[in-house]
Amino acid sequence: MPNPKRKPQKVARRGNARQNAPHRSIKPGDLRDDLVTIQWLRDLMREFLRQRQWEKYHLPRNLAASISVEAGELLELFQWLTPEEAAARCANDPAFRQAVGEELCDVMMYCISLANAMDFNIAQTIAAKMQKNHAKYPPEKFLGHYERPLRNLTMNPTEERRP
Ligand SMILES: [Mg+2]
Repeated sequence: MPNPKRKPQKVARRGNARQNAPHRSIKPGDLRDDLVTIQWLRDLMREFLRQRQWEKYHLPRNLAASISVEAGELLELFQWLTPEEAAARCANDPAFRQAVGEELCDVMMYCISLANAMDFNIAQTIAAKMQKNHAKYPPEKFLGHYERPLRNLTMNPTEERRP
């Protein structure tokens, strides 16, 4: 007779090892952008949340806020640096590069978690948005320069704007 007070044992999830622990199925040497898929990153994030029962926190509103917070942390690393100082540190300062990489990943993983939470197909969504961007900025019109299409905030109309 089963004890009703006893917590039900977790039923092992069906599926193969890769589905249950996708982050374990790629060897460290294979962690290359040309081998790892977006799906692998999505599963990695899902598994991280599942292990901590944090899905309840990763709601679209919270994730949108978290992306902005982490983008702020990324920007903070560059605060007060001149463009030349920033470029030099990006190229030659290992500790700075590590810090930028970690904040960049914080932003990206929250973006991936938002895509998971809202069930966006990332590849499709990016391709569709890039198609819109292509129509908005046709290369023959914007080759080597950029101007805001809706309002021109430049005081000097000849000033070059960067994307
Ligand atoms: Mg951070």
